[in-house]
Amino acid sequence: MSTLLSNPLAPDNKLGSSLPWGSSQKGCELVNTPQTAEALAMIIITRPDATEDQIEHIVSRIHDWGLRAEVSRGEMRVVIGVIGPEDKVREKPLGAFPGVESVTPVLKPYKLVSYEFRGMPSKIKIGNVVVGGREVVLMAGPCSVENEDQIIAIAQSIGKAGAKILRGGAFKPRTSPYSFQGLGKAGLQLLAEARRESGLPVITEIMDTKDLDLVCEYADCLQVGARNMQNFSLLREVGRTRLPVMLKRGMAASIKDLLMSAEYILSEGNFNVLLCERGIRTFETMTRNTLDLNAVPVLKSETHLPVVVDPTHGIGIRQFVPSMALAAVAAGADSIMIEVHNAPELAKSDGEQCLLPGEFADLVGRIRGVAEAIGREV
Ligand code: PEP
Ligand code: MN
Repeated sequence: MSTLLSNPLAPDNKLGSSLPWGSSQKGCELVNTPQTAEALAMIIITRPDATEDQIEHIVSRIHDWGLRAEVSRGEMRVVIGVIGPEDKVREKPLGAFPGVESVTPVLKPYKLVSYEFRGMPSKIKIGNVVVGGREVVLMAGPCSVENEDQIIAIAQSIGKAGAKILRGGAFKPRTSPYSFQGLGKAGLQLLAEARRESGLPVITEIMDTKDLDLVCEYADCLQVGARNMQNFSLLREVGRTRLPVMLKRGMAASIKDLLMSAEYILSEGNFNVLLCERGIRTFETMTRNTLDLNAVPVLKSETHLPVVVDPTHGIGIRQFVPSMALAAVAAGADSIMIEVHNAPELAKSDGEQCLLPGEFADLVGRIRGVAEAIGREV
Protein backbone atom coordinates (compact mmCIF):
# COMPACT_ATOMS: atom_id res chain seq x y z
CA MET A 1 0.00 0.00 0.00
CA SER A 2 1.51 3.27 -0.92
CA THR A 3 1.60 6.14 1.46
CA LEU A 4 0.85 9.54 0.15
CA LEU A 5 3.25 12.30 0.69
CA SER A 6 2.49 14.57 -2.12
CA ASN A 7 -0.02 17.03 -0.76
CA PRO A 8 1.49 20.31 -1.88
CA LEU A 9 0.81 21.64 1.57
CA ALA A 10 2.62 18.78 3.27
CA PRO A 11 6.13 19.15 4.70
CA ASP A 12 7.53 16.57 2.25
CA ASN A 13 6.98 19.03 -0.55
CA LYS A 14 8.83 21.67 1.43
CA LEU A 15 5.57 23.48 1.90
CA GLY A 16 3.65 24.49 4.96
CA SER A 17 1.29 22.18 6.76
CA SER A 18 -1.62 24.34 7.73
CA LEU A 19 -4.18 21.86 6.53
CA PRO A 20 -7.61 23.04 7.57
CA TRP A 21 -9.09 19.59 7.12
CA GLY A 22 -6.84 17.51 9.37
CA SER A 23 -3.55 15.96 8.44
CA SER A 24 -4.26 12.30 7.78
CA GLN A 25 -1.96 11.00 5.07
CA LYS A 26 -3.21 7.42 5.09
CA GLY A 27 -4.33 6.10 1.73
CA CYS A 28 -8.06 5.78 1.79
CA GLU A 29 -8.87 6.90 5.28
CA LEU A 30 -11.68 9.39 5.15
CA VAL A 31 -10.65 12.59 6.78
CA ASN A 32 -12.73 15.02 8.77
CA THR A 33 -15.29 16.89 6.79
CA PRO A 34 -13.36 19.83 5.48
CA GLN A 35 -14.55 23.33 6.10
CA THR A 36 -14.27 24.38 2.50
CA ALA A 37 -17.66 25.87 1.78
CA GLU A 38 -16.02 29.27 1.53
CA ALA A 39 -13.76 29.93 -1.37
CA LEU A 40 -10.19 31.05 -1.71
CA ALA A 41 -10.62 34.78 -2.15
CA MET A 42 -7.17 36.35 -2.06
CA ILE A 43 -3.58 35.27 -2.58
CA ILE A 44 -0.78 36.94 -0.65
CA ILE A 45 2.75 36.49 -1.97
CA THR A 46 5.49 37.36 0.46
CA ARG A 47 8.80 39.01 -0.32
CA PRO A 48 11.84 36.73 -0.68
CA ASP A 49 13.30 38.33 2.47
CA ALA A 50 10.11 38.00 4.57
CA THR A 51 10.88 36.56 8.00
CA GLU A 52 9.10 33.67 9.74
CA ASP A 53 7.82 36.15 12.35
CA GLN A 54 6.27 38.29 9.63
CA ILE A 55 4.60 35.25 8.05
CA GLU A 56 3.27 34.02 11.38
CA HIS A 57 1.96 37.49 12.11
CA ILE A 58 0.03 37.57 8.83
CA VAL A 59 -1.43 34.10 9.44
CA SER A 60 -2.47 34.82 13.01
CA ARG A 61 -4.11 38.10 12.02
CA ILE A 62 -6.06 36.25 9.27
CA HIS A 63 -7.24 33.77 11.92
CA ASP A 64 -8.20 36.64 14.28
CA TRP A 65 -10.50 37.93 11.54
CA GLY A 66 -12.28 34.57 11.45
CA LEU A 67 -10.77 33.70 8.05
CA ARG A 68 -8.59 30.75 7.08
CA ALA A 69 -5.05 30.78 5.74
CA GLU A 70 -3.43 28.22 3.43
CA VAL A 71 0.34 28.44 3.54
CA SER A 72 2.45 27.11 0.65
CA ARG A 73 6.20 27.40 0.99
CA GLY A 74 8.21 27.63 -2.21
CA GLU A 75 11.94 27.98 -2.68
CA MET A 76 11.91 31.77 -2.68
CA ARG A 77 8.52 32.89 -1.50
CA VAL A 78 5.64 31.89 0.69
CA VAL A 79 2.15 31.98 -0.78
CA ILE A 80 -0.72 32.50 1.64
CA GLY A 81 -4.21 31.81 0.39
CA VAL A 82 -6.92 33.65 2.33
CA ILE A 83 -10.18 31.71 2.48
CA GLY A 84 -13.47 33.22 3.47
CA PRO A 85 -16.37 35.27 2.12
CA GLU A 86 -15.03 37.43 -0.70
CA ASP A 87 -16.57 40.69 0.52
CA LYS A 88 -15.16 40.17 4.01
CA VAL A 89 -11.69 39.30 2.72
CA ARG A 90 -11.62 42.23 0.31
CA GLU A 91 -12.06 44.81 3.06
CA LYS A 92 -8.98 43.64 5.00
CA PRO A 93 -5.74 45.63 4.62
CA LEU A 94 -3.69 42.61 3.58
CA GLY A 95 -1.17 44.66 1.62
CA ALA A 96 -0.26 46.63 4.72
CA PHE A 97 1.62 43.82 6.49
CA PRO A 98 5.40 43.90 6.56
CA GLY A 99 6.87 41.19 4.33
CA VAL A 100 4.05 41.27 1.76
CA GLU A 101 5.03 41.66 -1.87
CA SER A 102 1.62 41.41 -3.54
CA VAL A 103 -2.02 40.73 -2.85
CA THR A 104 -4.13 39.34 -5.71
CA PRO A 105 -7.85 38.64 -5.67
CA VAL A 106 -8.77 35.25 -7.11
CA LEU A 107 -11.37 36.01 -9.72
CA LYS A 108 -11.39 32.69 -11.54
CA PRO A 109 -14.14 30.20 -10.71
CA TYR A 110 -11.48 27.57 -10.01
CA LYS A 111 -9.42 28.60 -7.03
CA LEU A 112 -7.39 25.79 -5.48
CA VAL A 113 -6.45 24.34 -8.86
CA SER A 114 -5.42 27.70 -10.31
CA TYR A 115 -1.75 28.19 -11.08
CA GLU A 116 -1.73 31.31 -8.91
CA PHE A 117 -2.69 29.30 -5.86
CA ARG A 118 0.76 27.72 -5.77
CA GLY A 119 2.73 29.93 -8.13
CA MET A 120 4.67 26.84 -9.27
CA PRO A 121 3.88 23.41 -10.69
CA SER A 122 2.86 20.69 -8.21
CA LYS A 123 4.68 17.39 -8.07
CA ILE A 124 2.48 14.42 -7.31
CA LYS A 125 3.89 11.18 -5.95
CA ILE A 126 2.43 7.86 -7.13
CA GLY A 127 4.17 5.15 -5.14
CA ASN A 128 7.75 6.35 -5.45
CA VAL A 129 7.27 7.96 -8.83
CA VAL A 130 7.04 11.73 -9.06
CA VAL A 131 4.88 13.25 -11.78
CA GLY A 132 5.22 16.95 -12.55
CA GLY A 133 9.00 17.31 -12.44
CA ARG A 134 11.57 17.20 -15.24
CA GLU A 135 10.85 13.58 -16.00
CA VAL A 136 8.09 12.68 -18.48
CA VAL A 137 6.57 9.70 -16.66
CA LEU A 138 5.29 6.82 -18.76
CA MET A 139 2.22 4.90 -17.64
CA ALA A 140 1.34 1.79 -19.61
CA GLY A 141 -0.63 -1.43 -19.46
CA PRO A 142 -3.72 -3.09 -20.81
CA CYS A 143 -7.13 -1.52 -21.01
CA SER A 144 -8.50 -4.27 -18.75
CA VAL A 145 -6.87 -6.70 -16.36
CA GLU A 146 -7.84 -10.09 -17.81
CA ASN A 147 -5.82 -12.83 -16.14
CA GLU A 148 -2.61 -13.44 -14.21
CA ASP A 149 -0.38 -14.34 -17.14
CA GLN A 150 -1.57 -11.35 -19.14
CA ILE A 151 -1.07 -8.65 -16.50
CA ILE A 152 2.24 -9.98 -15.22
CA ALA A 153 3.74 -10.43 -18.68
CA ILE A 154 2.65 -6.93 -19.69
CA ALA A 155 3.84 -5.36 -16.43
CA GLN A 156 7.28 -6.89 -16.84
CA SER A 157 7.66 -5.91 -20.46
CA ILE A 158 6.56 -2.31 -20.03
CA GLY A 159 8.74 -1.96 -16.91
CA LYS A 160 11.75 -3.20 -18.84
CA ALA A 161 10.96 -0.77 -21.65
CA GLY A 162 10.91 2.23 -19.30
CA ALA A 163 7.34 2.63 -18.04
CA LYS A 164 7.16 3.75 -14.41
CA ILE A 165 3.48 3.10 -13.64
CA LEU A 166 1.25 0.14 -14.55
CA ARG A 167 -2.29 0.81 -15.69
CA GLY A 168 -5.15 -1.68 -15.93
CA GLY A 169 -8.88 -1.54 -15.38
CA ALA A 170 -10.62 -3.87 -12.92
CA PHE A 171 -13.89 -1.92 -13.10
CA LYS A 172 -14.58 -1.02 -16.72
CA PRO A 173 -17.02 1.65 -17.94
CA ARG A 174 -18.38 0.03 -21.11
CA THR A 175 -20.84 1.52 -23.54
CA SER A 176 -22.72 -1.79 -23.70
CA PRO A 177 -23.90 -3.61 -20.56
CA TYR A 178 -23.18 -6.87 -22.45
CA SER A 179 -19.47 -6.11 -22.91
CA PHE A 180 -16.78 -7.30 -20.48
CA GLN A 181 -17.19 -5.25 -17.33
CA GLY A 182 -13.85 -6.05 -15.68
CA LEU A 183 -12.80 -8.62 -13.08
CA GLY A 184 -13.63 -6.39 -10.11
CA LYS A 185 -11.87 -7.43 -6.89
CA ALA A 186 -10.05 -10.32 -8.59
CA GLY A 187 -8.63 -7.80 -11.06
CA LEU A 188 -7.40 -5.60 -8.23
CA GLN A 189 -5.68 -8.60 -6.64
CA LEU A 190 -3.97 -9.37 -9.93
CA LEU A 191 -2.80 -5.77 -10.15
CA ALA A 192 -1.31 -6.07 -6.67
CA GLU A 193 0.48 -9.23 -7.76
CA ALA A 194 1.77 -7.50 -10.89
CA ARG A 195 3.03 -4.65 -8.71
CA ARG A 196 4.93 -7.14 -6.54
CA GLU A 197 6.42 -8.85 -9.59
CA SER A 198 7.34 -5.71 -11.51
CA GLY A 199 7.91 -3.12 -8.77
CA LEU A 200 5.62 -0.69 -10.62
CA PRO A 201 2.92 1.28 -8.77
CA VAL A 202 -0.55 0.82 -10.21
CA ILE A 203 -3.31 3.11 -11.42
CA THR A 204 -6.82 1.75 -11.82
CA GLU A 205 -10.28 3.15 -12.35
CA ILE A 206 -12.82 3.84 -9.64
CA MET A 207 -16.33 3.96 -11.12
CA ASP A 208 -18.59 3.97 -8.09
CA THR A 209 -18.36 5.35 -4.56
CA LYS A 210 -19.47 1.98 -3.21
CA ASP A 211 -16.19 0.43 -4.41
CA LEU A 212 -13.93 3.15 -3.05
CA ASP A 213 -12.67 1.36 0.07
CA LEU A 214 -11.92 -1.75 -1.95
CA VAL A 215 -10.10 0.05 -4.77
CA CYS A 216 -8.12 2.16 -2.29
CA GLU A 217 -6.83 -1.04 -0.69
CA TYR A 218 -5.05 -1.96 -3.90
CA ALA A 219 -4.42 1.17 -5.97
CA ASP A 220 -1.51 3.60 -5.81
CA CYS A 221 -3.50 6.06 -7.91
CA LEU A 222 -7.21 6.26 -8.61
CA GLN A 223 -8.41 6.95 -12.13
CA VAL A 224 -11.68 8.79 -12.58
CA GLY A 225 -12.71 8.07 -16.15
CA ALA A 226 -14.05 10.39 -18.81
CA ARG A 227 -17.61 9.20 -18.26
CA ASN A 228 -17.43 10.09 -14.58
CA MET A 229 -15.71 13.46 -14.86
CA GLN A 230 -18.84 15.22 -13.67
CA ASN A 231 -19.98 12.60 -11.19
CA PHE A 232 -19.70 15.14 -8.40
CA SER A 233 -20.46 12.75 -5.56
CA LEU A 234 -17.64 10.47 -6.75
CA LEU A 235 -15.31 13.49 -7.06
CA ARG A 236 -16.09 14.53 -3.49
CA GLU A 237 -15.48 11.02 -2.19
CA VAL A 238 -12.10 10.62 -3.92
CA GLY A 239 -11.34 14.10 -2.60
CA ARG A 240 -11.75 12.79 0.93
CA THR A 241 -9.04 10.16 0.42
CA ARG A 242 -5.37 10.98 0.21
CA LEU A 243 -4.64 8.74 -2.77
CA PRO A 244 -3.51 10.50 -5.94
CA VAL A 245 -6.36 10.85 -8.41
CA MET A 246 -6.00 11.09 -12.18
CA LEU A 247 -9.07 12.86 -13.50
CA LYS A 248 -9.77 12.25 -17.18
CA ARG A 249 -11.44 14.89 -19.29
CA GLY A 250 -15.00 14.07 -20.26
CA MET A 251 -15.55 13.55 -23.96
CA ALA A 252 -17.89 16.55 -24.14
CA ALA A 253 -16.19 18.63 -21.46
CA SER A 254 -14.41 21.93 -21.93
CA ILE A 255 -11.03 22.61 -20.35
CA LYS A 256 -12.82 24.81 -17.84
CA ASP A 257 -15.24 21.99 -16.98
CA LEU A 258 -12.24 19.76 -16.30
CA LEU A 259 -10.69 22.35 -14.00
CA MET A 260 -13.98 22.85 -12.16
CA SER A 261 -14.30 19.10 -11.63
CA ALA A 262 -10.75 18.96 -10.27
CA GLU A 263 -11.69 21.79 -7.91
CA TYR A 264 -14.24 19.44 -6.32
CA ILE A 265 -11.46 17.02 -5.40
CA LEU A 266 -9.10 19.67 -4.03
CA SER A 267 -11.91 21.39 -2.16
CA GLU A 268 -12.32 18.22 -0.12
CA GLY A 269 -8.67 18.37 0.88
CA ASN A 270 -6.99 16.05 -1.62
CA PHE A 271 -4.37 18.00 -3.55
CA ASN A 272 -2.90 14.87 -5.16
CA VAL A 273 -4.62 15.37 -8.49
CA LEU A 274 -3.44 14.89 -12.07
CA LEU A 275 -5.44 15.98 -15.10
CA CYS A 276 -5.65 13.80 -18.19
CA GLU A 277 -6.46 14.85 -21.74
CA ARG A 278 -7.86 11.77 -23.52
CA GLY A 279 -9.63 13.17 -26.55
CA ILE A 280 -13.00 14.80 -27.04
CA ARG A 281 -15.87 14.14 -29.42
CA THR A 282 -15.94 16.31 -32.49
CA PHE A 283 -17.54 15.97 -35.93
CA GLU A 284 -14.52 13.91 -37.04
CA THR A 285 -15.28 10.25 -37.73
CA MET A 286 -11.91 8.97 -39.00
CA THR A 287 -10.59 8.68 -35.45
CA ARG A 288 -12.17 7.47 -32.20
CA ASN A 289 -11.82 10.89 -30.56
CA THR A 290 -9.99 14.13 -31.29
CA LEU A 291 -6.96 14.41 -29.00
CA ASP A 292 -7.04 18.03 -27.92
CA LEU A 293 -3.38 18.85 -27.48
CA ASN A 294 -4.36 22.52 -27.19
CA ALA A 295 -5.37 21.56 -23.67
CA VAL A 296 -1.79 20.81 -22.64
CA PRO A 297 -0.24 24.30 -22.77
CA VAL A 298 -3.53 25.86 -21.68
CA LEU A 299 -3.73 23.62 -18.60
CA LYS A 300 -0.05 24.12 -17.82
CA SER A 301 -0.63 27.86 -17.64
CA GLU A 302 -3.99 27.73 -15.84
CA THR A 303 -3.23 25.14 -13.16
CA HIS A 304 -0.37 23.90 -11.00
CA LEU A 305 -1.57 20.30 -11.42
CA PRO A 306 0.44 17.92 -13.62
CA VAL A 307 -0.97 17.10 -17.05
CA VAL A 308 -1.16 13.57 -18.42
CA VAL A 309 -2.01 12.78 -22.05
CA ASP A 310 -3.65 9.52 -23.15
CA PRO A 311 -3.08 9.33 -26.91
CA THR A 312 -4.46 5.78 -27.04
CA HIS A 313 -8.06 6.74 -26.34
CA GLY A 314 -7.40 10.12 -27.95
CA ILE A 315 -7.00 8.69 -31.44
CA GLY A 316 -8.08 5.09 -30.92
CA ILE A 317 -6.05 3.55 -33.77
CA ARG A 318 -2.85 1.65 -32.93
CA GLN A 319 -0.93 2.82 -35.97
CA PHE A 320 -1.32 6.49 -35.03
CA VAL A 321 -0.82 6.30 -31.29
CA PRO A 322 2.99 6.81 -31.40
CA SER A 323 2.73 10.05 -33.42
CA MET A 324 0.27 11.54 -30.96
CA ALA A 325 2.34 10.37 -27.99
CA LEU A 326 5.38 12.20 -29.40
CA ALA A 327 3.28 15.29 -30.10
CA ALA A 328 1.95 15.22 -26.53
CA VAL A 329 5.47 15.20 -25.12
CA ALA A 330 6.43 18.07 -27.41
CA ALA A 331 3.34 19.99 -26.23
CA GLY A 332 4.55 19.76 -22.62
CA ALA A 333 2.75 16.77 -21.08
CA ASP A 334 4.16 15.63 -17.73
CA SER A 335 3.10 12.06 -18.29
CA ILE A 336 1.87 9.85 -21.11
CA MET A 337 -0.53 6.95 -20.65
CA ILE A 338 -0.44 4.22 -23.30
CA GLU A 339 -2.43 1.02 -23.60
CA VAL A 340 -0.22 -2.03 -24.22
CA HIS A 341 -1.33 -5.64 -24.71
CA ASN A 342 0.69 -8.77 -25.44
CA ALA A 343 -2.11 -10.32 -27.53
CA PRO A 344 -4.33 -7.51 -28.82
CA GLU A 345 -6.45 -9.89 -30.88
CA LEU A 346 -7.50 -11.58 -27.64
CA ALA A 347 -8.01 -8.38 -25.62
CA LYS A 348 -11.37 -8.11 -23.88
CA SER A 349 -11.46 -4.35 -24.48
CA ASP A 350 -9.74 -1.83 -26.74
CA GLY A 351 -7.61 -4.39 -28.61
CA GLU A 352 -7.57 -2.23 -31.76
CA GLN A 353 -5.82 0.67 -30.12
CA CYS A 354 -3.21 -0.93 -27.85
CA LEU A 355 0.45 -1.22 -28.78
CA LEU A 356 2.37 -4.48 -28.69
CA PRO A 357 5.14 -4.57 -26.06
CA GLY A 358 7.79 -4.26 -28.78
CA GLU A 359 6.06 -1.27 -30.33
CA PHE A 360 5.88 0.36 -26.90
CA ALA A 361 9.59 -0.24 -26.30
CA ASP A 362 10.37 1.35 -29.66
CA LEU A 363 8.15 4.32 -28.83
CA VAL A 364 9.91 4.88 -25.49
CA GLY A 365 13.18 5.46 -27.34
CA ARG A 366 11.53 8.04 -29.60
CA ILE A 367 9.79 9.73 -26.67
CA ARG A 368 13.16 10.01 -24.98
CA GLY A 369 14.50 11.86 -28.02
CA VAL A 370 11.64 14.38 -27.98
CA ALA A 371 11.84 14.79 -24.21
CA GLU A 372 15.56 15.57 -24.40
CA ALA A 373 15.00 18.04 -27.21
CA ILE A 374 12.74 20.10 -24.93
CA GLY A 375 14.93 19.84 -21.83
CA ARG A 376 13.13 16.94 -20.17
CA GLU A 377 13.95 13.29 -19.59
CA VAL A 378 12.32 9.87 -19.56
C1 PEP B 1 -9.46 3.72 -19.88
O1 PEP B 1 -8.49 4.39 -19.52
O2 PEP B 1 -9.41 2.51 -20.11
C2 PEP B 1 -10.74 4.41 -20.10
C3 PEP B 1 -11.90 3.77 -19.99
O3 PEP B 1 -10.57 5.69 -20.43
P1 PEP B 1 -11.64 6.89 -20.65
O4 PEP B 1 -12.33 7.07 -19.33
O5 PEP B 1 -10.76 8.03 -21.03
O6 PEP B 1 -12.57 6.45 -21.74
MN1 MN C 1 -9.29 1.46 -22.79
